[in-house]
Amino acid sequence: MKNGYRITDAHAHVFPDKIAEKATEGISHFYDLPMQYHGRVAEMLENGTAAGIDHFLVCSPATTVTQVHSINSFLASCAAAYPMCTAFGTLHPYAENVEADFQQLRSLQLRGVKLHPDFQNFPIDDPRAYPMYEMIQSSGLPILMHMGDAKSDFSHPYRLAMILRQFPKLRIIAAHFGGWGQWKEANAILQPDERLRFDTSSSLPFLPPEEIRKLLSHFGAENCFFGVDYPMWDYRKELERFFALELSDSENRAILSENLEAFLDESYS
Ligand SMILES: [Zn+2]
Repeated sequence: MKNGYRITDAHAHVFPDKIAEKATEGISHFYDLPMQYHGRVAEMLENGTAAGIDHFLVCSPATTVTQVHSINSFLASCAAAYPMCTAFGTLHPYAENVEADFQQLRSLQLRGVKLHPDFQNFPIDDPRAYPMYEMIQSSGLPILMHMGDAKSDFSHPYRLAMILRQFPKLRIIAAHFGGWGQWKEANAILQPDERLRFDTSSSLPFLPPEEIRKLLSHFGAENCFFGVDYPMWDYRKELERFFALELSDSENRAILSENLEAFLDESYS
């Protein structure tokens, strides 16, 4: 809790302790950005809780097709060990047997699917990914989709718009306000939609408060989740940036925890 609000980090990356440092270094290198933490679960819980975070949506995309099973088992073990963690699994659209991977993900009771087109090297709207989207759509589980990249257009908002048209029931959280570094494009291309949500992660440090407020009013505060993109940013500073937006009490409550809880509950209805 902070300032009287229950708070969920809707976008946290975790890795098994043994590889956490290396994995985090890889992300730091990919984005040419320094990382605040190392990607270990215990470290996330310690720093997050100290800053006021009550709940964590943890995920980790598989960068190669062979990692899917072990990553999903690891993520499920985090959710099992820590009641304050909800875990999304991962899939890779080019894996040999995406159907078996998805069955495993479901049997582990993971609550959604994290995809990262730029790390995983596929354009969001690649027809080879369609069978995967088909399966996810019929399950009702949401996708947490990384959005936006400076070097490639694999995760460009226009590609997501295409998939939203092709899969009318697919539920998607478009990370980083719909397009990291492509906030203007995301604002122009992505329209509020009952199955589409957005998270604030890795956006607050880059945009002035008035730009953030514009994005929130375009997408609807009721469709946005607070996310920190652990291990990228300092929990305390991200919360300071969020509260500096001076949103209304109900908007704070909704974005900091209630919107995500309602969205995840819908997966079961
Ligand atoms: Zn992410």
